[in-house]
Amino acid sequence: MRMRTMTAPVLDNHVHLEPVRGRHVDSARDFEREGGTHLIISHLPYEELPVRGPEDFRRGFEATVAVKDRVNRETGVKAYATVGPYPVELLELEKVHGLQKAKAIMIKGMDIAAEFVQEGKALAIGEVGRPHFPVPTDVWNASNEIMLHGMRLAKEAGCAIVLHTENASPENMKELAEMADRAGLPRGKVVKHYSPPLVLPEENHGLVPSVLAGRDAVKEALSKGTRFLMETDFLDDPRRPGAVLSITTVPKRTRWLLERGLMSEEQGYKIHHDIPRATYGSAFE
Ligand SMILES: [Zn+2]
Repeated sequence: MRMRTMTAPVLDNHVHLEPVRGRHVDSARDFEREGGTHLIISHLPYEELPVRGPEDFRRGFEATVAVKDRVNRETGVKAYATVGPYPVELLELEKVHGLQKAKAIMIKGMDIAAEFVQEGKALAIGEVGRPHFPVPTDVWNASNEIMLHGMRLAKEAGCAIVLHTENASPENMKELAEMADRAGLPRGKVVKHYSPPLVLPEENHGLVPSVLAGRDAVKEALSKGTRFLMETDFLDDPRRPGAVLSITTVPKRTRWLLERGLMSEEQGYKIHHDIPRATYGSAFE
């Protein structure tokens, strides 16, 4: 009988790579060296590509896709990109254009993001949503309308949407789940990035929690089940080492859990393969 040489999948569901200022491909190599196999690279606005109008979103998304392509060419990691207008960008645009025009530019950015998914350049729309800090009511309402538009586009494209919002709680997970219902988007296609371990159905209301891979959070998540993803929200910023979880965290944490018997290989396979596959669809291999 021939031994199957198969590496267990290890996915970091949410990292950022900086195409100009960061270590980008070298960061992906660090991930691979520790046993990481799959990376989802989320678009963030880049200092060197300021957004003044909708077409600037396109240039920024192209930069994220280009980094993703380089990781696929130059490392053994399977990388995907998610693209979308970052929620806080609305406030930057508002300063220049006023809220109504700013909102229209964000909506156009969302349309462009959906195009990237349709063209196979991106796996999902994200990270999009609403600011993680208090904002005036009109900005909050505009953000919710932009997010709802994104959910409708995700439904049309048959893809997932990755949400950036204020801290997740069972209450706002319910609100976001009901928003997905209004858009006709299945709740299981909505990923709540930067989530605490809200793994129970009554905590996440059907949304998919992408849990920040701190030791205690992951242990708590596992005590509730396997329907969650792991992420670091790694910021590829050599000027701020240690500001966020390192890109090696998910592979190291996974190994640590397996070695201590806190997670079985079967559970690991669910978290790193079955759940992402169910969430992102067949585009996720
Ligand atoms: Zn992020």
